[in-house]
Amino acid sequence: MPYKKILPTLLATALLTGCAQLPAPKPAPPQAKAAPFHEVTFNGVAGFKDTPMQPDGKWHVHDPERPQPPVVTPGSFSEQATPPSDATVLFDGHDLSQWRDKRTGGPVAWKVVDGAAVSARGDIQTTNQFGDLQLHLEFREPTPASGDGQGRGNSGVFLMGQYEIQVLDCYQNQTYADGATAGVYGQHPPLANACRPPGEWQTYDIIFNVPHFDAAGKLLTPGYVTVFHNGVVAQNHQAIRGATNWRSPGKYTPHGPTGPIALQYHNNAVAFRNIWVRPVPVVNDP
Ligand code: MG
Repeated sequence: MPYKKILPTLLATALLTGCAQLPAPKPAPPQAKAAPFHEVTFNGVAGFKDTPMQPDGKWHVHDPERPQPPVVTPGSFSEQATPPSDATVLFDGHDLSQWRDKRTGGPVAWKVVDGAAVSARGDIQTTNQFGDLQLHLEFREPTPASGDGQGRGNSGVFLMGQYEIQVLDCYQNQTYADGATAGVYGQHPPLANACRPPGEWQTYDIIFNVPHFDAAGKLLTPGYVTVFHNGVVAQNHQAIRGATNWRSPGKYTPHGPTGPIALQYHNNAVAFRNIWVRPVPVVNDP
């Protein structure tokens, strides 16, 4: 055999033999997959520049360059507000019987500690469904604060189980603006950063109008949300662009006129108390 043919043959034999002795290749674990994105930092704010553009054409989803909401020191507002007579009390400090685990539908992993519901191991959602609503709740961020950006005191209020008003400890903690406290996650930054320091109770008073779809599933009117954070307007009848998701500008999937309220567990123990909701009359039904 000419040497030009011997070498490739030897190499092929060696490779085949070697391969035969190797164990079958293991599938790569999911986390080892090449991420189709990468985080960047701008002026100390971590975010993304490889995400879709927002419809305004100016900012990427989770854009670290999007202006930070102005910091406003809140006054007093609705702390410990007692529920109106027609409210449904979702948590009064005693038990979580109005809630179930969002994923399993079973009992919640959250615990009631000193009159507060503390997030743990899974999102929870109400057993009841709601349409247009007024919602009051209070939350308390963990102390001492740990983590930064999205990793500090992350939770969330999901209207109809899918439209997130972000809960985060943004007290002296910056993150991409569309993921800040009282933001419509990934879409609309809050109009102000009215965060209290971690360890202090804070309030959300939310007015929400459900989106409407026609019989074919076409969006007729978007959902609208108004949010007071510690008495400071953070969302002003803001149109929601669809279900809120990480690195997504929001997308609607047709659904019915009511849905549950969900609270997020996002690896941080965030406490909640005094949660009540009441239906509000429809004034902008198409
Ligand atoms: Mg969240």
